[in-house]
Amino acid sequence: MLDKALRTPLALPHGVDTRRIVWPYAITLLLYHVVALFALMPVFFSWSGVVLMLAGLYVFGTLGINLCFHRLLTHRGLVCPKWLEHTFAVFGVCCMQDTPAHWVAIHRRHHEHSDETEDPHSPLVSFLWGHMGWMVIENTDVSRLEIYARYAKDILRDPFYKKLEGPLYAMIVLGSWVVFFLAGMIAALLTGDTLQEALRFGTSILIWGVFVRTVLVWHITWSVNSLAHLFGYQNYETTDRSRNNWFVALIAMGEGWHNNHHAQPRSAKHGHRWFELDLTYVSVWVLEKAGLAKQVVRPDPNKTV
Ligand SMILES: [Zn+2]
Ligand SMILES: [Zn+2]
Repeated sequence: MLDKALRTPLALPHGVDTRRIVWPYAITLLLYHVVALFALMPVFFSWSGVVLMLAGLYVFGTLGINLCFHRLLTHRGLVCPKWLEHTFAVFGVCCMQDTPAHWVAIHRRHHEHSDETEDPHSPLVSFLWGHMGWMVIENTDVSRLEIYARYAKDILRDPFYKKLEGPLYAMIVLGSWVVFFLAGMIAALLTGDTLQEALRFGTSILIWGVFVRTVLVWHITWSVNSLAHLFGYQNYETTDRSRNNWFVALIAMGEGWHNNHHAQPRSAKHGHRWFELDLTYVSVWVLEKAGLAKQVVRPDPNKTV
């Protein structure tokens, strides 16, 4: 339940100018939501598209964002061979949550100032602010150069992540659109469909496999910032309002055990009690067994509940 302190909203970060909209973000968010809605039209429905969307939630959301951007790059909770880390980072880029350096910098700032005025996305300002408002309203506190210098120097030492600050980022995103569309079209043509049917099927794969999936991954990630700082239980007394939220943990593959995470940020394992299922950690564990993840940080047994 929301306690008394939550009824007094937190002030917006100092650098926020509510009159200024970050148009590239606002337009992208709007366009993706609008295109994703086309999925509801029967002409663009296909079961293959639905299956690809569901698989994409795991590949792009869990491996790209949770495992790579969050647990690996931001918190250094594990180490993977560079080729694999970069592959996962490309999956993360396909989720359109900005570049790895930007994601890491914003998230490290969130941990440093969780639920204080300097937090870029505390839902104690308002639910909508913490969920998505913080991205579309200008906040000069988190202008790229300033937060990069402070929070993302280590990331930008890797030439690949530095390159992603340039046109490569958009090329990967647009490239993923082309790959999904063409894969759908070619598959249809190979099974003897007409060109018109192949065009329809390719569009269906694009809408479900890219747009619906991206919008869902967005809301899943954003729920960690909003819901998991408002509702749920705490295993640890932290200085912030982070909560363990079973619903968010379920949809975000373990990222909803957010109070555990704030208590022990470096741990690559967010589920600390036997029933706190953490499928992102299961993936880390499988990679470790396969020799593809090393130096996996686990919860401190002296602190664990
Ligand atoms: Zn948090
Ligand atoms: Zn974190």
